[in-house]
Amino acid sequence: MKCKILISGAGLAGPLLAYWLNKYGFETTIVERSNQLRTGGNGVDIRGLAVDVVKKTGLWPIIKSRAIDMNGMVFVNENGKPLSRINIKAMQSKNKSEEVEIYRGELSELLYTLTKDHTEYIFGDSIRQIEQTTAGAAVMFEKAKGRTFDLVIGADGIHSNVRNLVFGPEPDYLNYKNHYYAFSSVDSSLGVKGWLTGYNTPGKFAGISMSNNMPGAKVYFAFRQNDQLIYDYRDTEQQKLLLKNAFSGMGWKVPELLEQALSNEEFYFDCLSQVVMPSWSKGRVALVGDAAFCASPVTGAGATLSIVGAYELAGKLHQAKGDYAAAFKNYEQGYRKVVEKSQSELFTGLLVPKTRLGIWTRNTLSKLPIMGALASMERKLNSKNNPVLTNYQ
Ligand SMILES: Cc1cc2nc3c(=O)[nH]c(=O)nc-3n(C[C@H](O)[C@H](O)[C@H](O)COP(=O)(O)OP(=O)(O)OC[C@H]3O[C@@H](n4cnc5c(N)ncnc54)[C@H](O)[C@@H]3O)c2cc1C
Repeated sequence: MKCKILISGAGLAGPLLAYWLNKYGFETTIVERSNQLRTGGNGVDIRGLAVDVVKKTGLWPIIKSRAIDMNGMVFVNENGKPLSRINIKAMQSKNKSEEVEIYRGELSELLYTLTKDHTEYIFGDSIRQIEQTTAGAAVMFEKAKGRTFDLVIGADGIHSNVRNLVFGPEPDYLNYKNHYYAFSSVDSSLGVKGWLTGYNTPGKFAGISMSNNMPGAKVYFAFRQNDQLIYDYRDTEQQKLLLKNAFSGMGWKVPELLEQALSNEEFYFDCLSQVVMPSWSKGRVALVGDAAFCASPVTGAGATLSIVGAYELAGKLHQAKGDYAAAFKNYEQGYRKVVEKSQSELFTGLLVPKTRLGIWTRNTLSKLPIMGALASMERKLNSKNNPVLTNYQ
C-alpha cells in the first residue's frame, strides 16, 4: 500500500514537496486554508541549488520566460532626486549568475498546475487536531471528515498551524527582528521602469518597483519597531492602520503609495521574523519552508530555502524506504547548516538604516565601484564551495 502523506499549505514548499513525493510513489493530499490558491505577493528569488531543483521539474524555461527584469535599486531624497544606485543586473551578468526573480503568485500557480492532477487538493479547510499512534496520524479537519495518514507535513508558512498544534505556541519559535514590512501593488505611473526606487527616513523605507518587462508596479514598506506590536495577524484592517500610522507625514511619494497600497487587495503585512526550531520533526510530523525555517523577505532567501528544503525532505523520505524517523533526521542534518547561513544574511541595515548617518553611509558606499568588486569577489570565493544537488532518483 502507498504511503499517504498529508501536507498543510499550498504555498511554494507544499506543492513542490508533493511533486517530488508523487514522483517517488507516495500518495499526497494538500489542505489549504484559503478557498483558492493565494496568488498574491511580490517578487521572490530563485537562486543557487533552487535553480537546479526547478530545472529538474521541467519548469525552468517557463520560469525564465516570466522572470522579472530589473536593473537594481536607486535611493532618492524627498524630492525624488537620485542619491545612489546599486546596479544588481550588471553585477549578476558579470558573475554569470543564473538566478531569477519571479512573482510569488506566478510561481505558486505554476507549482499548483504541475501537481493538481496527481495530488488531492482540499481548499478552504484546515487541520484541527493531529493524534499520533503507532499506526499513523489521525487528522481531524475543521470541515472535512477525519482521516488517517502515515505522515503529516506542515508547509503552512511563517504562522504555521501544524507547528502550533504539534510543536507548541508561535512565540517559542518566532525570532522577532525589530521590523514590520508590507507589500502591495500600485499604479505604475509612480515608479521608474527597471528600478526599485526607494526613499528612507531613519528607521523607515518606502519603495516602488517597476520591472522592464511586466505591467504594473509593486510597493514595499518597512519600518523599525523595537517592541512587537499587538494585533491579530489575520485582521487586515488592523494591519492597514498600523502601516498608515507608521508612514503618516512622510515625504516623497509616500502618501500616494500608501493610499494605493492600502486599497489594493494584494496588501500583505507582517512582522519581520525568523523561525528557529531545535527540531523540525516530532514523530510522524515534520515541517518545511517558512513553517520550519523562515529566513524573512529581508534575506531574499525564503523561496530558495523552501524549494530546496522540499526537494531534500522528499528525497530523504524516498531514500529511507519507509523509515520516516531516519528520513526526518537526515533531512535536518543535511539542511540545517544551509538554513543557518541564509538566516544570518539579513540586509535590514542596507534597506532600513536606523539613523541619518546610516542612510548617508549606505548611499555613499553604494556609489563606490568597490561594492560591485566586493560582491563579485565574494561570489567567486563562494562558488568554490558551492554544494551540488543530491540526485535521489
Ligand atoms: C499571500 C502571500 C504573499 C507573500 N508575498 C511575499 C513577497 O512578496 N515576497 C517574499 O519574499 N515573500 C512573500 N511571501 C512569503 C513567501 O511565499 C515565503 O517566504 C516562501 O516562499 C516560503 O514558502 P512557503 O510555502 O513555506 O510558505 P507560504 O508561501 O507562506 O505558503 C504557506 C501556505 O500555507 C497556507 N496556510 C496557512 N495557514 C494554513 C492552515 N491553517 N491550513 C492550511 N493552509 C494554511 C497559506 O494560505 C499559504 O498558502 C508571501 C506569502 C504569502 C502567503
